[in-house]
Amino acid sequence: MDRRQILKQYFGYDSFREGQEYLIDNILNGRDVLGIMPTGAGKSICYQVPALMMEGITLVISPLISLMKDQVEGLNQAGVHAAYLNSSLTPGQYRKALAYAREGRYPIIYVAPERLMTAEFLDFALHGSIAMVAVDEAHCVSQWGQDFRPGYLKIVDFINKLAVRPVVAAFTATATKEVKEDIIDILLLQDPALITTGFDRKNLYFGVMAPKDRYGAVKNYLDIHPKDSGIIYCLTRKMVEEVWGKLNAAGVPAAKYHAGLGDEERKNNQEDFIYDKKPVMVATNAFGMGIDKSNVRFVLHFGMPKNLESYYQEAGRAGRDGQPGECILLYGGQDVVTNQFFIENNQDNQELDEITRRIVMERDRERLRKMTFYCFTNECLRDYILRYFGEYGENYCGNCSNCLSQFENVDVTEHVKAIIGCVEASRQRYGANVIIDTLHGANTAKIRNYRMNENPFYAVLAKVPVHKIRQILNHLFVNEYLMVTNDEYAVVKLTEQSGNVLHGDTQIVMKMAKEQVHPAKTETGKKKGSGGQPGIFTEEETALFEKLRQLRLEIARVEKVPPYIVFSDKTLTHMCSIKPKTKSEMLTVSGVGEYKFEKYGERFLQCVREGLQ
Ligand code: ADP
Ligand code: ZN
Repeated sequence: MDRRQILKQYFGYDSFREGQEYLIDNILNGRDVLGIMPTGAGKSICYQVPALMMEGITLVISPLISLMKDQVEGLNQAGVHAAYLNSSLTPGQYRKALAYAREGRYPIIYVAPERLMTAEFLDFALHGSIAMVAVDEAHCVSQWGQDFRPGYLKIVDFINKLAVRPVVAAFTATATKEVKEDIIDILLLQDPALITTGFDRKNLYFGVMAPKDRYGAVKNYLDIHPKDSGIIYCLTRKMVEEVWGKLNAAGVPAAKYHAGLGDEERKNNQEDFIYDKKPVMVATNAFGMGIDKSNVRFVLHFGMPKNLESYYQEAGRAGRDGQPGECILLYGGQDVVTNQFFIENNQDNQELDEITRRIVMERDRERLRKMTFYCFTNECLRDYILRYFGEYGENYCGNCSNCLSQFENVDVTEHVKAIIGCVEASRQRYGANVIIDTLHGANTAKIRNYRMNENPFYAVLAKVPVHKIRQILNHLFVNEYLMVTNDEYAVVKLTEQSGNVLHGDTQIVMKMAKEQVHPAKTETGKKKGSGGQPGIFTEEETALFEKLRQLRLEIARVEKVPPYIVFSDKTLTHMCSIKPKTKSEMLTVSGVGEYKFEKYGERFLQCVREGLQ
């Protein structure tokens, strides 16, 4: 079979995605490869397909037990014999798996890096024929990244012990230059074929909201999307408990996850989510590494994360199956302060020497600033993210809350003059809140203490709503008409451009959301790209989708695998639009391969027939 037939037969897909063929062909030609592809791009296929075509065994090095389990279950479901070797197996199970491996039963074996150099494993590897070593999450070799795994440094020692050097294929979603160089250097890749595919996740909708009642907005969202699976990220454990508690009381099937829970509880909660027993997960950022759940339809952030790296990684857990997903950040004014606190008190930094610590903190504050601007920008959100990661896109994507909002251009020059004047007259000593309160004319003890009620600009903007003043101020920060000091006091300072506005004839025009469309912004759920199924579904198809989803759940329960391992949401959606009546029609559905058809095909055909009566 050629690679296309393998793709169809085992995985049920008709065509390769960007980069896959290139990497597969190079592997088959015996050349090392390095694939830098974003989450959900389909890295696994790049080594799984050639693994089934090469003589000998493919070892896949993977850092996480849960990830290995998921992948192996997926392969077994597709009719590929695969196994994993890691610490989750009992010694008995481990030995048995190794014995089967020796007999050549598995073309693909997942192994934890720490196992490679153990006597037992080496004994197997030296006597078997290893055709390829695929290194998943290859950035774990780099000490630059956050996910450094010392075990990854053993990979090269291991490869050096083998009589014949196998092809080495490395994959990661981390694109920075340092990490890329580290991977090539540390894994000693030989003239690797290299590919970096775009970081844009077109199937994801991005949105930012700043609702007064954040919990209400979340609840509202869940009401509009009752059947969908999704993650709600909170900044602190306390927030997780709060949000989870309220949702639970409201009868929403939600699980929770944070580092304060015991191992057992965390594990159970995670499984409840993965197996769709509780489709909603409320969690801190401790949750998610290695979660491969492909049918996550939304990721809501109940608060702004500390930087865009974290945000994009967490949000990117939506829509891994390529179906539409929604990533919505619910911003609250307190988020910046919370994050600043995390930065000042980061335990990981305590061991650094003073100078390094200051540099690291400075860098973190800068990242936080860029994250904050994401919440304030009126430009295309996707474009903002991509530019942050060094990609240049168009500045209109049509699938983010800014591109879908109606803005009007407002001349705010007079307001700006007042704001900059106020900063100047207070001799650049105060933070944004004091400036805003002064301009708005707040009569508080703090303002009186600072004698800001005597500032010539006191109450000059009394008629402008506070949120608008803040919006304008943020616009000035983003465009460097003013700046904030990069320390814990966050004092507002003038920049070179400030004078041009104050004394020159610079005009400031900014995009402001039209007042009347604000409510529509809250209703993100109704827009294109929402929900488990595309909006083009007829009523009949929606009902069919539910039936198929139910059948999938029943099968998953019996087989004790997560539902998305049986068939992805994308496959079910495709089934709904094709409505297959025969085996050959069913085989045209994306994600239905021969083996899966043998196992479940008839039941799904039956379900489609009944659903259409
Ligand atoms: P990554 O490891 O890059 O995050 P995965 O390998 O988990 O991504 O793939 C993400 C999803 O895309 C999986 O559900 C996978 O089956 C699917 N997929 C991969 N390649 C293709 C393809 N050529 N056509 C359709 N779906 C694909
Ligand atoms: Zn956009």
